[in-house]
Amino acid sequence: MAVAWLDDVRSADVDHVGGKAASLGELTAAGLPVPSGFVVTAATYREFIEDAGIDEELFAAVDVDHEDTEALREAHERAHELIMETPVPDDVRDGIVSAYRDLGDGERFVAVRSSATAEDLPDASFAGQQETFLNVQEADLVERVKECWASLFSQRAIYYRNRQGFPHREVDIAVVVQEMVDAEKSGVLFTSHPSTGEPQIIIEAAWGLGEAVVSGSVSPDNYVIDRETADVETVTVADKKMMMVKDEETGETVEREVPDEKRSKRVLSDGEIAELVELGERVEDHYGTPQDVEWAIHGGEVYMLQSRPITTIDDEESAAEASVAGNGGANGDSNGSEGDDDILFRGLGSSPGIASGEARIVTKLDHLDQVGDGDIIVTEMTMPDMVPAMKRASGIVTDEGGMTSHAAIVSRELGVPAVVGTGSATRQLEDGQPITIDGDKGTVRAGAKEKEEQHEPIEEARPKTPVKPMTATEVKVNVSIPEAAERAAATGADGVGLLRTEHMVLSLGKTPTKYIADNGERAYVDELVDGIRTAAEEFYPRPVRVRTLDAPTDEFRQLEGGGDEPREHNPMLGYRGIRRSLDNPGLFEHELEAFRRIFEMGYDNVEIMFPLVNDAEDVFRARELMERAGVDPEKREWGVMVETPAAALGVESMAEAGIDFVSFGTNDLTQYTLAVDRNNERVADRFDELHPSVLKLMGDTIETCRELGVKTSICGQAASKPRMVQFLVEKGISSVSANIDAVRDVQHEAKRIEQRLILDSVR
Ligand code: PEP
Ligand code: MG
Repeated sequence: MAVAWLDDVRSADVDHVGGKAASLGELTAAGLPVPSGFVVTAATYREFIEDAGIDEELFAAVDVDHEDTEALREAHERAHELIMETPVPDDVRDGIVSAYRDLGDGERFVAVRSSATAEDLPDASFAGQQETFLNVQEADLVERVKECWASLFSQRAIYYRNRQGFPHREVDIAVVVQEMVDAEKSGVLFTSHPSTGEPQIIIEAAWGLGEAVVSGSVSPDNYVIDRETADVETVTVADKKMMMVKDEETGETVEREVPDEKRSKRVLSDGEIAELVELGERVEDHYGTPQDVEWAIHGGEVYMLQSRPITTIDDEESAAEASVAGNGGANGDSNGSEGDDDILFRGLGSSPGIASGEARIVTKLDHLDQVGDGDIIVTEMTMPDMVPAMKRASGIVTDEGGMTSHAAIVSRELGVPAVVGTGSATRQLEDGQPITIDGDKGTVRAGAKEKEEQHEPIEEARPKTPVKPMTATEVKVNVSIPEAAERAAATGADGVGLLRTEHMVLSLGKTPTKYIADNGERAYVDELVDGIRTAAEEFYPRPVRVRTLDAPTDEFRQLEGGGDEPREHNPMLGYRGIRRSLDNPGLFEHELEAFRRIFEMGYDNVEIMFPLVNDAEDVFRARELMERAGVDPEKREWGVMVETPAAALGVESMAEAGIDFVSFGTNDLTQYTLAVDRNNERVADRFDELHPSVLKLMGDTIETCRELGVKTSICGQAASKPRMVQFLVEKGISSVSANIDAVRDVQHEAKRIEQRLILDSVR
């Protein structure tokens, strides 16, 4: 029997039908209005490969060295080919097609989804990586089922299983075929308040298909219902400009403008609210915990598309944790009882936390191996090859550099306290001298502190309960070194807003040209692929925005091969960002090739971002090179940084190139607007990202982008500042990308402002 109806499936069948189908079956049995469907069982896949005799060849083909990207690609291609080119036996094909016809009259649109079985790795990000196809009809149905089977052997899946030593032969896959609901209205429902846990039902509703609400691309109506009295407490009707609908011809989901008469009309009637409330009560009763339910209404019927436990409710403990973090950790008390007497000097506190240790003065590269565990590195400025030593250190102090210098960025990501731009630390301190640094206040004191007063090591500093405030504004995280990806993902951020590839290249120790001369083009692309993949894997399926190289000549001069870097009077205004890439398309091509391969491996969560563009011509030229390298801009999310006043003022014409998003690089936007060198500690007091002119450029850009349907974000250092978050959330920015250490605070700040905005709108 090739198929089983969801009606007949229960949790206990998980081995035969996979997790997704088992839970849909369970909900159907509980009488919940789940759209009808059936499962192509795991046994069907197993018999297919065994009866055709391709099983051994399949497992042999994917038994490759997972670090060899070329071998991975070939393994994936061979496995895909074996499955797709082997015909499905007639009885299986007939079973699937006849079940499809039993769903109802006419050509129905169905969703075809992989449902991995319990023997597969119990890792959520892994389960998420198999194929889903929407809007499928009879003609393609069996092919799509096979595509789901083949997706067991994407490059990602092979890589992951081989790395974990998990045998491919023990993995099975079932496939769910379920009716699509062509919703007239849809949204989400929380059976308890998602932040406070109060006994309220919150419903968000918009016209059309649910994607728009789930992805946050429209502001939905909001209804708050008291669960005890069933009274509708508040109704907030939003101005709903866009909706997602099914294109009648292609069946694809497309964006449409909401007809004028429906824009500011309330989506749900009282009767529909009552039905949804009842649905919510039943789902919560069934699971016994508060749920986050996706629902849709078609032809007067309410359907339940998905339900998940709410994981965001703040408990007392986490609220306390958050407020401690907001005060810069538990450091306040100990400092309060101290005078300023033992402060030796000050700099910029650029990575939070307190650290004590012996000062290790690093003036030449050959001193690096003298940096022992727990030492405090004291150096003029950090170099890329210091990263391993920075990981061992308990703190970092530099003479030069600002809040966005290499030392500041890397130490924040490593979670190592740092004070930068002190001017003279290397001259004022003795090697071996015990000191204590405060990365919040920017002080360097004589003498060591007790261990318990110092900052926590990285492992323990991770949030223990990833309780995350629910915000409509996405809160993402910046990552510069792939080693920090795991720590970044543990923050519960909604994705990576900026992955700086130049830091990956800096850690190769050679300029790209030198690296290619020594190791070949393939090896260079492999390095990029591996770095990007580390973050993409860690965050999957959350989006990871990867920026192409922004390589200033002064930083690259420190690398082997750096002697060939042009000498520039002012590198910040010089040969860097997209202008450098467009000037040397041969080299840029390798980066684009890395993206092409990443997409081919199945990392569809990766987005491409171009740095330091100035105008539409830059963007069109970048787009053309992307196309030439085999990356389809129509299929991928891509966008640009807004880092110059020219880009901010010209965003409308840049958008014509088809960008999906812009992201403010306030480090550069501030330096170019105010003419203040961001890396010069002498003018650090003039570096003000909240300057009215900088804010005006950003506010106007957001407004234009909202009209054009282009998403907006910020990934400069200022995204970690509460006042900046406040300004941008009020302006309606789509996402904010903060430093690892600031993510939790930014989530709380964004939530607070959103709640105030909602309150203001109803008052
Ligand atoms: C910025 O300019 O704000 C930015 C995020 O880019 P970078 O700091 O790498 O120049
Ligand atoms: Mg920049």
